[in-house]
Amino acid sequence: MSVLKNVGVIGAGQMGCGIAHVAALAGYTVTLYDLSPERLAKGLATINGNLARQVTGEKITEDQRKAALSLISGTAIIAELAPMDIVIEAATENESVKRQIFAELCPILNPAAILATNTSSLSITRLASATDRPENFIGIHFMNPVPVMKLVELVRGIATGEKTFETARAFAASLDKVVTVAEDFPAFIVNRILLPMINEAIYTLYEGVGSVDAIDTAMKLGANHPMGPLQLADFIGLDTCLSIMQVLHDGLADSKYRPCPLLVKYVEAGWLGRKAGRGFYDYRGETPVPTR
Ligand code: NAD
Repeated sequence: MSVLKNVGVIGAGQMGCGIAHVAALAGYTVTLYDLSPERLAKGLATINGNLARQVTGEKITEDQRKAALSLISGTAIIAELAPMDIVIEAATENESVKRQIFAELCPILNPAAILATNTSSLSITRLASATDRPENFIGIHFMNPVPVMKLVELVRGIATGEKTFETARAFAASLDKVVTVAEDFPAFIVNRILLPMINEAIYTLYEGVGSVDAIDTAMKLGANHPMGPLQLADFIGLDTCLSIMQVLHDGLADSKYRPCPLLVKYVEAGWLGRKAGRGFYDYRGETPVPTR
């Protein structure tokens, strides 16, 4: 356990719920905040379901599940994050959304608290400058699904203090995660490499080189990937994928990062992948069916 005790998580989506889940299992008291009470209720139910699945899979005991659940509370009132030792922001991947959250949170948050972001791609230095505590600000980038994936990328902004970095490192270790350190460049390490591959898979679909099934099968059996790139895109969320490609394109000013127009179209349609019930696959039936 690190020196931290009370952990606040902002955003009860796929990532926020996963972070709340692993933090509570590690014994932290967790307050999960989302502005949408519906998302909050759905998120808490997801955490419960995922913990139950871990009991069935004998990864944790029933007592651990109960203890973890008793440590998580949900709220739609941001002021309830005031006494936290660390707050991890995991809201929608949109810079203005995150800035707005920091503007509301900073005036009420314990001045000594660490403020972290789970952003997949945005500049930590720029986000830090939108807060009152650039020294206590850091990127703690978890992978999806958080309870399963071992890695955490730690990203310092230009002003991040050594104490903040070491506290974040100890926090990640206490969650049984392995840390890699990435510099503050667009999309850091994992997504800098992964997202152009996914975007290229979407171009391959867009140009008619292969169907959804052909592309995913090719990469699973031909490159030994556990999941096809289009299946993975749906899993990440197509809005998040598009946002990361836009950050790479804008931040590195290289046309090789141009988001595929077909990705843009899927996002415009609201076909955001698994979380929306439809993306490159349709998840509304018994088994996922390719949409192209
Ligand atoms: P998501 O769409 O599942 O969830 C986002 C949540 O944020 C929603 O519940 C929404 O209601 C909430 N939200 C939006 N605006 C808010 C506000 N102003 N205040 C409070 N809550 C607000 O998204 P996600 O996949 O969980 O991604 C969240 C963050 O994690 C993003 O920054 C994303 O880049 C990052 N991330 C995503 C993945 C992934 O694979 N999906 C992996 C690593 C990091």
